[in-house]
Amino acid sequence: MNEPVDRRHFIATTASGAAAVMLTAAAGGTAAAATPGAAPAAAPRKPRALTSVRPFPLTAVTLLPGTFKDNQSRNTAYLRFVDIDRLLHTFRLNVGIASSAQPCGGWESPTTELRGHSTGHLLSGLALTYANTGDTALLDKSRKLVSALAACQAKSPAAGYRTGYLSAFPENFFDRLEAGSGVWAPYYTIHKIMAGLVDQYRLAGNAEALETVLRQAAWVDTRTARLSYDQMQRVLETEYGGMNDVLADLHAITGDSRWLRVAERFTHARVFDPLSRNEDRLAGLHANTQIPKMVGALRLWEEGLDSRYRTIGENFWKIVTDHHTYVIGGNSNGEAFHEPDAIAAQLSGSCCENCNSYNMLKLARLIHFHAPERTDLLDYYERTLFNQMLGEQDPDSAHGFNIYYTGLAPGSFKQQPSFMGPDPNQYSTDYDNFSCDHGSGMETHAKFADTIYTRGDRSLLVNLFIPSEVRWQEKGITWRQTTGFPDQQTTTLTVASGAASLELRVRIPSWASGARAKLNGTTLPDQPKPGSWLIIDRQWKTGDRVEVTLPMALRLDPTPDDPDIRAVLYGPVVLAGAYGTVTGMTMPRLKQDSVVQQATSPMRFTATADGQSVTLLPIARVHHQRYNVYWLTGQPPTPPPAFAAWYRFDETSGTTAADATGRGKTARLTGGATWTTGRTGGAVALNGTNAYVTLADDLLAGATAYSLATWVRLDGTPATWTRIFDIGSGVTANMFLTPVADSGKLRFAITAGGGGAEQRIEADPLPTGQWTHVAVAYGGGTAVLYVGGREVGRNNRVTVEPVHFGNHIRAAYLGKSQYPDPYLRAAFDDFRVYGRTLSANEVATLAES
Ligand SMILES: [Zn+2]
Repeated sequence: MNEPVDRRHFIATTASGAAAVMLTAAAGGTAAAATPGAAPAAAPRKPRALTSVRPFPLTAVTLLPGTFKDNQSRNTAYLRFVDIDRLLHTFRLNVGIASSAQPCGGWESPTTELRGHSTGHLLSGLALTYANTGDTALLDKSRKLVSALAACQAKSPAAGYRTGYLSAFPENFFDRLEAGSGVWAPYYTIHKIMAGLVDQYRLAGNAEALETVLRQAAWVDTRTARLSYDQMQRVLETEYGGMNDVLADLHAITGDSRWLRVAERFTHARVFDPLSRNEDRLAGLHANTQIPKMVGALRLWEEGLDSRYRTIGENFWKIVTDHHTYVIGGNSNGEAFHEPDAIAAQLSGSCCENCNSYNMLKLARLIHFHAPERTDLLDYYERTLFNQMLGEQDPDSAHGFNIYYTGLAPGSFKQQPSFMGPDPNQYSTDYDNFSCDHGSGMETHAKFADTIYTRGDRSLLVNLFIPSEVRWQEKGITWRQTTGFPDQQTTTLTVASGAASLELRVRIPSWASGARAKLNGTTLPDQPKPGSWLIIDRQWKTGDRVEVTLPMALRLDPTPDDPDIRAVLYGPVVLAGAYGTVTGMTMPRLKQDSVVQQATSPMRFTATADGQSVTLLPIARVHHQRYNVYWLTGQPPTPPPAFAAWYRFDETSGTTAADATGRGKTARLTGGATWTTGRTGGAVALNGTNAYVTLADDLLAGATAYSLATWVRLDGTPATWTRIFDIGSGVTANMFLTPVADSGKLRFAITAGGGGAEQRIEADPLPTGQWTHVAVAYGGGTAVLYVGGREVGRNNRVTVEPVHFGNHIRAAYLGKSQYPDPYLRAAFDDFRVYGRTLSANEVATLAES
């Protein structure tokens, strides 16, 4: 049944919205809604570009049945279940209030310096969930928790702390922080508690929470006002969460400029200044330490401080999403940022800390409020929400347990990292392994409703395709979104009740080519481009229905650092290979044209990788089994010849070392590397500060057998993790020989899944100050380590070979690591590379020659 299209509608053709738009004079169209003097219906009219939008309150948006609501419900069950007395235990003991509650585990244990942070997340989770669901049991629990915290705060002076102090650890942690004597992250923890109290005030109307957090903020003022600028900058070197963010919120709530002054003390110049110049100096920084500061920077600008803060926050978002972000929307490997565009080179089981994305989404959302025409912010939001955030929670747990990282090495598994303790549970648990991600998870799964829609003066923005209902009270209209997205490629927006004249804007994602819309059953002629807004401006009435089709297509996204390493996407959904219980995986080689959608299920695909059939599923839905996200593509490289390279280092001048095999695999002396007298003829000397030898590209690329042999003289005791050689494509895939591992031993290791997946041989340390022959020979699953021509160790269960490193090996060194490890002080002579397995006799002969 096609109803006539009775009003005008517009479709913006670019993301900027300022460019040309079309007016469609649809069948039965009239100009009844036009203001007097407005152009006739057939003339073009531009929708006004939106310069800012606001969120709907969580009370106005309800999740309807679907995966997001399921996740929220499990989280709500946990929030209802969790015993606040256990989470108050260390707060109470800290001020001398008796507590017989059972202590918590993980980072809430009574001896962990981060204790108390989860109680802050709990305050937020309770407030968010109450606001979104109206669950009064949570309101009651919140009141008890806030009152109990206020009681702890009141006892602080009697316990010897300054007035207003509220924490589960003693105030002397801040003495240690200010003295630089080493402490985990006290302001990080204080921020979580303060943010939780602010959420309790704003979302649950708890006045006691505001009084408590204002006293706590006054304590922060007192504590930080005593410090010089330089002292404060040193304090800021330790992770402090979003202290600037929560203090900006207190300014917004109270209008008291005092809180902005205190907030600005948390401006970390070493990080902020390069970002103000749009410089990427993120490599080596702990990632999640930086992101909340950037949320705070945006908030300082929103509260009226210099626009430089906005610039800093926006530059950071762009740098991170353009150059430090994996296909699922997350960032960081081993919790750090690395060199720009190092993605394939930085895969491990500890990629993508989930807290980082929780904070990056906050930042994207804030930027969106002030740049609502941009669709890239929301494309990022969608990518991260649907792939990482949705999938961090165990769907089989009644209490919505979370993981810490979303690993991206081949064969990753959703589980807590080993440093969270030997708990057999793979995800977080009720009380035993509290972590930052268990904490941020309590909030993430409570606030899915906060960004689905935003609003301008008379614009309703549909940002995300999640089943939900939004009540726009001031306009007297309620919209319902029904969709099976992403399993369905449509979303339907219906006026559930009321009537209003307004502009409906639906995000057309950058991945959606050929999007179309129907208004009350009639297909609109317009063809909105990917990365734009579909805009329909009319007088809406109950029952009006807009159906938007967003066609998804399969595509393979190459990594920026290795175009042959790719991830498979269908629309916004990242597909992961489901590998069950397979262990010791290396990156599978995908037959690119083999990916086929299964007729029975739109989000189930099969493909051929390494000659075998594999099922591909959305990564968010892969749980309790191993998975693979990045794939090798293209043809494998030709294996190296039997004798692949030979560096005699007899040059004595220049910066190149010839390949004596005649194959032209020239090496380069880099940094402070110099020529010296060798064991025979010349040698190369490395100074231990910046010198190394860069080996030719693709040495051993494609190899399934190899040997490496060299004379080396260690000049002085080598530092831990220095390298004799390191050959690979980054920290994901490499093989190295270190004179000193963390065990104190000589170690050979090879991995194709990051540092956590090394296969090793260890032996006694090498002598120093004398020429020593070392060699590694590998073939058929056995690697043998030789020192002085004699075997000192072997590993018969090696499954990783250079053929698994990728199609290219572009990071091969003598004296330098793939990681930012110390440089080696040593001399090298007669370094040889073979594409075959040297026998023990052959190695012995080399060591005698
Ligand atoms: Zn975390």
